[in-house]
Amino acid sequence: MGFYVKFWGVRGSIPTPGWRTARFGGNTACVELNIDGNLFICDGGTGLHELGLDLVQRQDQPILGHLLFSHTHWDHIQGFPFFLPVYSSENTFYVYSPEQGENRLYRLLSGQMSSDYFPVDFHDLHAHIAPRVIPRDGIEIGGVKVTSIELTHRGICYGYAFEWQGHKVVYATDNELDLALTNADEARDDPDVLRRAPEHLVDFARDADLLVADGQYADAEYWLRVGWGHPRATTMVDLAIQAGVKILAVTHHDPLQSDDEVARKIDACQARATRFESPLLVFGAREGIELQID
Ligand SMILES: [Zn+2]
Ligand SMILES: [Zn+2]
Repeated sequence: MGFYVKFWGVRGSIPTPGWRTARFGGNTACVELNIDGNLFICDGGTGLHELGLDLVQRQDQPILGHLLFSHTHWDHIQGFPFFLPVYSSENTFYVYSPEQGENRLYRLLSGQMSSDYFPVDFHDLHAHIAPRVIPRDGIEIGGVKVTSIELTHRGICYGYAFEWQGHKVVYATDNELDLALTNADEARDDPDVLRRAPEHLVDFARDADLLVADGQYADAEYWLRVGWGHPRATTMVDLAIQAGVKILAVTHHDPLQSDDEVARKIDACQARATRFESPLLVFGAREGIELQID
C-alpha cells in the first residue's frame, strides 16, 4: 500500500490565486498522507476543496478519513465547508484534537459554519463526523503511530508525526521557531552558528524521512514580522539538520511572495544546508507534488 504525501495547499495566511503564484500555487494549508491505505489529512485550508474533488473522483467506495488540524486560524480551516465528501452520508471523518485541546478544534471547526459565516449548518452535513482525542503518548490509527507536539504560535497550535514501518513524516506548521531558539543571541548575527531548536522539538522531528515545516519568511522579511507567528525558512533548515531529517519541505509561503521569490527563499535554504555540510535535501512545497516515502 505504501506511504505517500501529497500537497494540496502550500500558501500561508490567505489564498493567493493569480499569475504571480501559479507555479507553487495559491491555496492555503492542506497536505494528504496515504499510509498503508489509510487517509490522513493535515489541515483544511482552501487546498482541502481541491482534495475533496479529487477524492470523490478517484474512488467510488465510501471514504474514511482522519482529519488533523494544526489550529483554527482561517488559512487552516477555511476549506472545510467546501470539502465535498462531508456532504455524502456514506463517508466518515474523524477530527482529532490533542488531549490538551479538549475538543476545542472540533468546536471551532463547526463554529465557522454558523449562519453568520456560511449557509449550511455543520449539523446538516451528511457524513458521519466525530471528534477523537490524541492522548499525550500518541494514538495508533490503522497501524500508524500518530503523536502531537505544541508549536510556537499565537493561540494553540500543534504539529503531528506519523510513523509506519520505520518511516516517519512530521507536519509542523505554523511555528515561529526563531522565538524558541536556545541560542538566539549568539546565532542572531552570525550565519555560521547553527540556530539551536528546543530539545523536545528536535526529538519530535528526529530521523524523519520528511519534515513539512512552516518556512513563511525569507531572512530579510522576518525582521519586519517578528511575533507574527512564523519563522525564517532557514531556521527550519537548522532544525532539520539537528534532527537528522532527510528531506525538508518548506511550506506556508508568504502571500506576498511571488513564485520567483519563493524559489529564491528555497535556494537560500539549500545553501544553508550546504554551509553546514549537511546532506539535507530542501524543496519548496508546491501544489500537486506527491512524494513516495517508503
Ligand atoms: Zn497559517
Ligand atoms: Zn496560524
